[in-house]
This record gives sequence, C-alpha cells and structure tokens, in this order.
Amino acid sequence: MGAYFRKIWFGFYTVLLGLRVTWKYLVSKPITLQYPDEKWDIPDGSRGKLDTEIDDCIGCLACARACPVDCIAIETKKPPKGLDLGKTSDGTKKKLVVPHFDIDISICLYCGLCVEACPTGCIRMTKDYEYSTYDRKKDLVLHFGKDLDPEVEAAAIKKAKEIEEAEKAEKAEAAKKAEKAETAKEAETAKKVQESPKAEAVKKAQGAASGGDDAKKTASSEVPPKRESPPEDS
Ligand code: SF4
Ligand code: SF4
Repeated sequence: MGAYFRKIWFGFYTVLLGLRVTWKYLVSKPITLQYPDEKWDIPDGSRGKLDTEIDDCIGCLACARACPVDCIAIETKKPPKGLDLGKTSDGTKKKLVVPHFDIDISICLYCGLCVEACPTGCIRMTKDYEYSTYDRKKDLVLHFGKDLDPEVEAAAIKKAKEIEEAEKAEKAEAAKKAEKAETAKEAETAKKVQESPKAEAVKKAQGAASGGDDAKKTASSEVPPKRESPPEDS
C-alpha cells in the first residue's frame, strides 16, 4: 500500500520537476517581442542599410572605387560656369553635381569600405535591417542622386553665356587696342629712323649717287658731234 502511494507521489514530483523551467518563465517578465510592431534596439556601429546625405557628397567616387563588388554607381557633371554649389557640412567646397548615385543593396556585402573611404562622411550605415520586398531590382536599388533644379540650371547657363560673350568682346577690344598701339609704334619708329642724322646722310649719299648716275646717263645719251670732213684737194 505504501509503495502504491509512493509511486503516485513520484509521478507528481517528476511532472513538477519537468515543468520547472516553465514555472520559472511563467512568473518572470516576457522577453519575446511582437515583431514587427515591436523591435529590438540595434547597437551603435551595426551594419544595416546604407544611406547617403547627398548634399554633402562631392562626387569624388572614392566610395565606388573602394567597393569590392561594384554596387555603387555614380555619375557626376560640372555645373554651369559661375554657379556656386556651396560647401558640404564639413566645409569642403562642392565642385560637381551628382545627378545619379545608386547603391544596389541586393549585392552589398555590408563591409563598410565605402564608409571608410568617404572624405566627407556622407555615406553611412544605418540600423535598418529590413529589406523585404516584392521586386529586388526595383526596390533594392537605392537612388540618392540629386540634379540641379532645371530653372536654376537654365538661369546659370544663360548667365554663363552672357559672361562668356562679355569676355570675348573684352578680349576682342583689347586685341584691337593692342593692334592700334603696335601700328602707331611702328609708324613712330619709322618716322624716327627717317629723321635721324644717319638716315639723312644715307639719303644725301643716295641722292648724290643718283645725281652722278644721271650725269653719266645724260652724257652717254648725248650724240657725239659730227666730225667735219676735210676739204677735197682741187
Ligand atoms: S558596404 Fe561594402 S559592398 Fe556595400 S556598398 Fe559599401 S563597399 Fe560596397
Ligand atoms: S566617397 Fe563620399 S563624397 Fe565621394 S562620391 Fe562617395 S559618397 Fe560622395
């Protein structure tokens, strides 16, 4: 009879023992999260989706060159002459417009080399780790490029043309003035040379030489006098 009750107690005891972990969690605070409504805090420095602050990008292509899988594609262009693009937040002067800046995060390794290479710190890794999408090609290529405002660009091009034309006109005017000055200088030099005593002497000498020649010419051109024939003997 005692053995019978001992076995019943042992049955209960083992069940209670087996449920020990269950009892522990039954009374402790829950650690599960109702994802996606609730999310874990991601630690600083974690490597999630890339992000770019395009206003701070100087279009140097250092990130694209550093990328081992070529998942960054950048196109840059020069702004119209005279248009100031301003500076980045760290004070670097911007010289190029970056109309196309695409990152294909479907092939990104999350190595962080692009982040290390960026001189202005405008490309960085965020804590965003959710990439679920229906279209990999469309949704996993991030576009950050920013072109100039068409109106601003058109106005800048117009202004640049005006500046160019004004410069051309100024150059032409300067060339004309230089030509005039050169001609005047040449004329003055020629006049000085003509008026110099040496030139006078040369002139005189030339005049004298030409006079002698004239005399010779005159002499040679004169008809020799006819010799009278002797009277015939009668
Ligand atoms: S994290 Fe690495 S693989 Fe991804 S874009 Fe940057 S350099 Fe390329
Ligand atoms: S390295 Fe930085 S500044 Fe240079 S192109 Fe890439 S994101 Fe822009």
